[in-house]
Amino acid sequence: MAFVNENFLKLQQRYLFVEVAKRASAYKELHPEADVIRMGIGDVTLPLAPAVISAMHSAVEDLAHKETFQGYGPEHGMSFLRDAIVEGDYVSRGINVTADEVFINDGAKSDTGNIGDILSSANLVGITDPVYPVYVDTNTMGGRKIQFIPCSEENGFTGEIPQNRLDIIYLCYPNNPTGAVITREKLQKWVDYALENESVIMYDSAYEAFIRDESIPHSIYEIPGARECAIEFRSFSKTAGFTGARCGYTVVPKDLKLKSQSGEKVSVNALWERRQSCKFNGASYMAQKGAAAIYTPEGRRQITENIDFYLGTARIIRETFEGLGFNPMGGENAPYIWVKTPGEMDSWDFFDLLLDRANVVVTPGCGFGQAGQGYFRVTSFADRDRTIEAMERIKSCIKSL
Ligand code: PLP
Repeated sequence: MAFVNENFLKLQQRYLFVEVAKRASAYKELHPEADVIRMGIGDVTLPLAPAVISAMHSAVEDLAHKETFQGYGPEHGMSFLRDAIVEGDYVSRGINVTADEVFINDGAKSDTGNIGDILSSANLVGITDPVYPVYVDTNTMGGRKIQFIPCSEENGFTGEIPQNRLDIIYLCYPNNPTGAVITREKLQKWVDYALENESVIMYDSAYEAFIRDESIPHSIYEIPGARECAIEFRSFSKTAGFTGARCGYTVVPKDLKLKSQSGEKVSVNALWERRQSCKFNGASYMAQKGAAAIYTPEGRRQITENIDFYLGTARIIRETFEGLGFNPMGGENAPYIWVKTPGEMDSWDFFDLLLDRANVVVTPGCGFGQAGQGYFRVTSFADRDRTIEAMERIKSCIKSL
C-alpha cells in the first residue's frame, strides 16, 4: 500500500487566498447585484511594459524559424539574462554577485519552497510572523520544526534577534504583508547572528523595486558578511508585471557553505546547481527574453513608471486611513498597506464586515500568521479608479461604526 507524506496532513486546511476568494464568491452568489471591489490578492493590474512585449514578440519569432529556433536552454538560465541581472541589480550598485551565482526560475514562489530540498529536515526554521504564507507551508511539508519570530509595531515589524540558535531564517523586506522595510543596521544584526550561529538566511526581496528611500538596502549582499550566510530570492512579478509571464531568480553565493552530518563544509551553490539541473528545465525562452528587456534603459524607465503608479495608489490608500485616524504601516517603499482593525476586531470579522457593508475585499492579517491577528492588508496593485471608489466606501463604512 502506498502512503501519503504525513507532513501534508499538518498543513492548515486552506491556503489564505483560496479562503478569501471563496468567501468573496459566496457573498457574490448571495448578492449577485453587489459590485465587489477586490483589494485583497496581491496580483498586478498594469500590462507588461512595451519593451518587454516587444522582446517577447521577437522571442516568439526566433522560435518560428529554423535558424533562430531555441530548444532546451541551460537549467540555471540563459546567459544574456544572468549577465543583465548581475550588471543591472548588483554590479551597478557596487554589490559583488557573479553570473554563476544567479539561477533563473519561473518565479520566486517555486524557489522559496524548493530550496528546502537541499536542507536537512532536522533544521530549526525561524519565520517572522506575520509573513508570506509559503515559507511556513513549504517547511511544514518538509517536516521541519518552525519557531515564529513575532513582529509588531514595537519592533517595526522586523522581529527581535532570537536568544536561541535557529538554523534557517526567512526574512522578507520590503515585507509582505506589513509593507515594513528593514534598515541596514538591523539587517547587519541578522547577518551577524547568522554568521555566529552558522545559520542561513533566506532573504526574499521580491518587492525591492518599490524602495525609493536609498538608505534602505535593496539586497542583503549590501551587508558585509551576507555572502557567507544568505540566499536571495528576487521576482519579476511585482517589479515588472510578470505574475502571468512567470520569471524570477535566486542568488546562491559561492561563499556560502553549510555542514554535512559528518562536519564537511559543502558548497550550497553546487548543491543547488545539482538540484536544479535534475528537477528544473529552465524558464521559458520568451519569459527570459522579456525579463532581459527590463534591464535596457527603455525597459527600466517603463517599469519604474509602473511602480511609481502603484506607489501613487498606495499613497491614496495610506492617506485615506490616516484621515480616518488609523496609523497605517507600509505603502511608502512597498506596495502593501497594513492597518489595525477598528476596535480590536478579529481580522476575519472585519473582513466579513467590510465585504458586507462596503463590498470591498481586503486580506485578513491573521491569514499571514498569529501576529497578524487584528490587522488587515490592502494592496496598491488594484485599479486606480476602483481603489478610489473602495476608499470612499471604506470611509462611509468606518464612519458608520
Ligand atoms: N515572495 C513574496 C514575498 C511574495 O509576496 C510573492 C508573491 O506574492 C512571491 C514571493 C512570489 O512571487 P512569484 O510570482 O515570483 O512566484
